[in-house]
Amino acid sequence: MDSDVLIGLEVHVQITSLKTKLFCRCSCSYRENPPNTNVCPICLGLPGSLPVLNKRAIEKAVAVALALNSSISDKLLFVRKHYFYPDLPKNYQISQYDRYGLTPIATGGSVAIDVDGLNRVVRIRRINIEEDAGRIAYPEKSILGSRYALVDYNRAGIALLEIVTEPDLRTPREARVFLEKLGSILEHLEVADTSLEGAMRADANISVAGRPRVEIKNIGSPKDLEKALNYEVARQLNIVKSGGVIERETRHWIKERGITVASRVKELEGEYRYFPDPDLPPVPIGRELIEAIARSLPELPDQRARRIAKEYGVGDYMASVLVLHKKLCDHFENSSKVCGNPRLISSILINEFLRWVDEAGIDISSGIARLSTDRLCKLVQYFESGLISIKLLKEYVRIAVLEDINPEELRSKGLTTLGEESELERLVDEVLRENPKAVADSIRDPKAVNFLVGQVMKKTRGRADPKLVNEIIKRRLSEYGSK
Ligand SMILES: [Zn+2]
Repeated sequence: MDSDVLIGLEVHVQITSLKTKLFCRCSCSYRENPPNTNVCPICLGLPGSLPVLNKRAIEKAVAVALALNSSISDKLLFVRKHYFYPDLPKNYQISQYDRYGLTPIATGGSVAIDVDGLNRVVRIRRINIEEDAGRIAYPEKSILGSRYALVDYNRAGIALLEIVTEPDLRTPREARVFLEKLGSILEHLEVADTSLEGAMRADANISVAGRPRVEIKNIGSPKDLEKALNYEVARQLNIVKSGGVIERETRHWIKERGITVASRVKELEGEYRYFPDPDLPPVPIGRELIEAIARSLPELPDQRARRIAKEYGVGDYMASVLVLHKKLCDHFENSSKVCGNPRLISSILINEFLRWVDEAGIDISSGIARLSTDRLCKLVQYFESGLISIKLLKEYVRIAVLEDINPEELRSKGLTTLGEESELERLVDEVLRENPKAVADSIRDPKAVNFLVGQVMKKTRGRADPKLVNEIIKRRLSEYGSK
């Protein structure tokens, strides 16, 4: 059976680095404000109000287009996209369109991703600039089971970029890595802090085994994107296997339940009645502006990965994973500068830290607060001086991330003292006293030492470094042998 999967994404990113909304002077930092206090006649769509374009938003959009190698339009055209929904006070959204002679701010471009060592290129179809809608809050946390909805217009009118890909993604995992990479590019450009709730949302179009495509709306994070798509692939393959028909429909991701459900509203492109916004005449985008922005672009993830692989000797793969998260990469560079051993630090961050951050359900910034440079360097120092084994080092990272505990505290609690040399010496002496025959055997035959090492490891419940135990036993035996 043909089980090919085709996935395309529409990503909505708030330009969180702006101070004000796209067409009015209301503040962009709406999250802290009580509902419906961050509004004015323009973003509430009151009669007689006129939008005034925020120029900084255009500069940010141009920077994103340059970073994705897209072609930038020579003018900015806004359209009205009509639909009736409670979160849209004007009953239309100011957006852009790519048909009927209209054009979005940029078209084309690509993002290269590395998925578990495999290189893939994902083509970008277009980049739009548009305004965000308000937010609907459900008393039961989701649409399901809620008897009414509440509307908050604080978010209405925030500048959004809509970045649409071609259906080039083949697996849910690729979709996750793409979204992480895109988020990292936006963070390096200082366009968006994607860790803020609702700052980056994705709609996914997915088609399985050549069947009609299904759209999943409003997925809030790369991790949820992977989960929602895994759920959809399995659901659609089951329908295909049992001879059923997959309907072209829109579904919603219900994060709390880990499922998608069919949406009752069907939206068709024609119903939006796009037309140029008469309140916003075309704005030319000058070549000088584009060139000036191009000159000031910061180091982007791909360049940074190449530099990191070379400068720190961590290998191309590790570098490609580190740059997926700007903050993680910053943390890696800071910590490597403070305590050295970049290879060990990259391995701790990628193989241990990310896993426990996921498990704890916290974001990377909160994880970094728990495994700060200071704490991470202490652990590296303990390990390098032989106080703790690699196994114990991993255990420390787990506890630090899950429970926010300082490594020094762990040591004083006794979790590390078993790895300390003086404590180990005491245990070795105990084992030697208890096993005189094995001691005699070991003095004659060095291979017999393994039995004694095993006894010490048993007493430490596996928490000591076997290499260090072996060294201490051999030192003690040579002292015995010379007596
Ligand atoms: Zn406003």
